[in-house]
Amino acid sequence: MIHVIEGNIPNVSENQPFATTLDSLPADETPSVEKRFGPEFAATHPLAVGPVVSPPHSVDGFVKEFLRELNFGTGVLLSRATVNDQYVALARTVAHYLAARWLEGGRTRREAGVKVVGYLSAEYLLGRQLGNALLATGLRDIVEEGLESCGINLSTLRAQEVEPGLGNGGLGRLAACFIDSLATLNVPCIGYGIRYEYGIFRQTFVDGRQVEQPDAWLSLGSPWEFPHPEAAVQVDFGGTTEEYVDEDGTPRRRWLPSWNVLGVPYNYMVPGYHNGRVNTLRLWSAQATKAFDLQIFNSGDYAEAVRAQTFAENISKVLYPEDSTPQGRELRLQQQYFFVACSLRDFIERELPADFDLHDLPERIIFQLNDTHPVIAVPELMRLLVDERKMDWDEAWAVTQKCFAYTCHTLLPEALEVWPTEMLAKLLPRHLEIIYQINDGFLREVREAFPGDEMRARRMSIVTDYPERAVRMAYLATVAGAKVNGVAELHSQLLRDKVLPDFSEYWPEKFTNVTNGVTPRRFIRLANWNFTRLINETIGTGWVTDLDRLAELEPYAEDPEFRARFRQVKAANKERLAKLLVARDGIVLPEGHLLDVMVKRLHEYKRQSMKLLHILSTYEQIISGAIDPATVTPRTFVFGAKAAPGYKMAKETIFAINAVAATLAADERTNHLLTVAFPANYNVTLAEKLIPAADLSEQISLAGKEASGTGNMKFALNGALTIGTDDGANVEIRELVGDDNFILFGMSEPEVADLQARGYNPAAVYESNPLLKRAIDLLASGHFTEGNRDAMNPLVMDLLYNDRFLALADFQSYIEAQAKVDELYADPDAWSRKAILNVARTGFFSSDRSMREYLDRIWHAKAL
Ligand SMILES: *Cc1c(COP(=O)(O)O)cnc(C)c1O
Repeated sequence: MIHVIEGNIPNVSENQPFATTLDSLPADETPSVEKRFGPEFAATHPLAVGPVVSPPHSVDGFVKEFLRELNFGTGVLLSRATVNDQYVALARTVAHYLAARWLEGGRTRREAGVKVVGYLSAEYLLGRQLGNALLATGLRDIVEEGLESCGINLSTLRAQEVEPGLGNGGLGRLAACFIDSLATLNVPCIGYGIRYEYGIFRQTFVDGRQVEQPDAWLSLGSPWEFPHPEAAVQVDFGGTTEEYVDEDGTPRRRWLPSWNVLGVPYNYMVPGYHNGRVNTLRLWSAQATKAFDLQIFNSGDYAEAVRAQTFAENISKVLYPEDSTPQGRELRLQQQYFFVACSLRDFIERELPADFDLHDLPERIIFQLNDTHPVIAVPELMRLLVDERKMDWDEAWAVTQKCFAYTCHTLLPEALEVWPTEMLAKLLPRHLEIIYQINDGFLREVREAFPGDEMRARRMSIVTDYPERAVRMAYLATVAGAKVNGVAELHSQLLRDKVLPDFSEYWPEKFTNVTNGVTPRRFIRLANWNFTRLINETIGTGWVTDLDRLAELEPYAEDPEFRARFRQVKAANKERLAKLLVARDGIVLPEGHLLDVMVKRLHEYKRQSMKLLHILSTYEQIISGAIDPATVTPRTFVFGAKAAPGYKMAKETIFAINAVAATLAADERTNHLLTVAFPANYNVTLAEKLIPAADLSEQISLAGKEASGTGNMKFALNGALTIGTDDGANVEIRELVGDDNFILFGMSEPEVADLQARGYNPAAVYESNPLLKRAIDLLASGHFTEGNRDAMNPLVMDLLYNDRFLALADFQSYIEAQAKVDELYADPDAWSRKAILNVARTGFFSSDRSMREYLDRIWHAKAL
């Protein structure tokens, strides 16, 4: 029942706590407020000049603002407001608290002329904003109390928010963690990306199979964005190039594009934690330069009249639902060029003074290329400098080489982006010429350094001729970047030795490693309040911005009382998860089970199918009487995973997991011991509920395939033990927590390489391992598909005759490691001791630490 406060509408003219109508003029040419409106205006409107005064942190002040926003921003009375109205009003109210600091911070940054980190990423998997904004501002308690006085429950409003799913998985989430950390470290950063109208699809299951629904995250509007159509940037495409002679008599080349679109910036605030810094995330939305053709419209051909508009707007329509395989599609290249062209123009023309000498550009910006998606920014900057600003080529190249750094995120050869020259010639003809010229200069250098070694020059060429003439974007990024980094120690080493060996030999100092991290604000402080409270009571609150301080928990691992409280936290988190899953998916989680969680994108290299084989094997042994049910540790296995819509084998795996889940749920012999839960649509919001409840974290990729993983870090920091291979950041997790506190299994990367070189035969492994054979035979028998053997055939055949990622080869080792898990879990005190040590020893995996490493070794930028 909503308590109506009709009469309590505040008087707008009365004592507004902060300016909601600040001028949004570009700062550099902006005359001071005194100049524009006279000293009298400035004296009576201090907020228009800054520094911004803090808004009143009182319940009363908040309620006034909230109701004002509801009435005059949303246009409704509280008595008639829907939950969405209330959510929007609340979000805007909180946003206003941040906006004052945001505007002030932007102004001081531009005035100070400090170096900015320009993070270029095609994806940002942000998660919900409201909780984070309340945390950053420290407004949560005030808001909760204020809303209560209006008869509104804060968690109801928080649940109303649709998370912006502008990323696929780890790579996009990493970008979100990084910008959070930079704001918290008080480092000026602008995140640049694309405002996809439809983010990552919403996953549903129909008869156990994945069905994708469009993610219409904007259908109710987003209160967190600030659109600036007046600041739209034009982006050109197509056409031809020509030579001409400029006014000074110098022969030059220029681009004569044939079509264009507009990029409209949408700004989002990225608040630091309790430090007043609010950085900007600027996402670009594509718009037609001409809305529609009125003549054609009047003639009645409505489809043709809006054709150009539809075509242009397609560029920011959907996020490519691909995770680690490139989609060789022209639209994707359009997206990439679109957002980097907008971003470079934006920074140079709007963030720098008009008379800025671009030779000094590296003193003001470092663009971090988050994988190869933004690498077309390299020829674009060269074009801006050489063609538009008439800079000498060599000088421009020297500037460009200092303005970019490149992060590689993969080891899978199929995930290294390559663009056919034919497509580039059609879409970006001038950029292709520039790439050729960069390549010529580079190969000249290589031939000088290695005379006579023509094979090497061919291997290193940015442009390849096989299997078709194409540009290798990772090579372009490596040649242009001041630094190239991998994302975990093992990955960086394999990057040097296997992916880019010639480059690392040529430029050893260019290569470095920065192990990924996750933000403790979202993934502990926000996601795990029960644990936060326990940590705060034990070691204080400083860990939230200094995660190494979790080490102070180490002695408490030996304290039985602390361990008991740690178990209470897990139990409470499991209960919270159980409530959510019943409401969200109708899934009932049994009580008292070991919670074994595997959540991440579905990919063969991550080996969800091997996890399934473990479940099948345990189940098979119980129903065949091979093991006594009384000796089985009751477990609930939770999966969360989206498959790229075009990825057949991944979708077959989802089908198999769902089929097994349904059969096990119905089997009275085992359903008190083994439960499989697969809630649909794994996303950041679900991760925040699942991870704090987990006992066991499954990180079982084939060694040498997972670049880093960040899910693994989130679990360890929330007190789950990891069962994992020696892959990605697992290696570093194990080194830090110690062998006793990590359950390792499987082949090492050199062993994998060795087996593959000798020739791997999965069918032979199947024949020789009775346990594995029985598990696969059961899967193939039709037991999980009402007798229909064909339904499971694609997965079974793939495991037996392909098994690209050696799941069968690691099966035995995995099963044995799982037996060790059961044994450990039987002793709750010993288990919680290990879990607490995992927390105490993994503070290293804060993205704050990752950011400090980038700042020191790659960006050479400083906190304000
Ligand atoms: C952390 C995270 C990921 C990455 O998980 P990995 O296990 O490292 O692949 C993917 N999706 C979401 C929603 C995440 O929060």
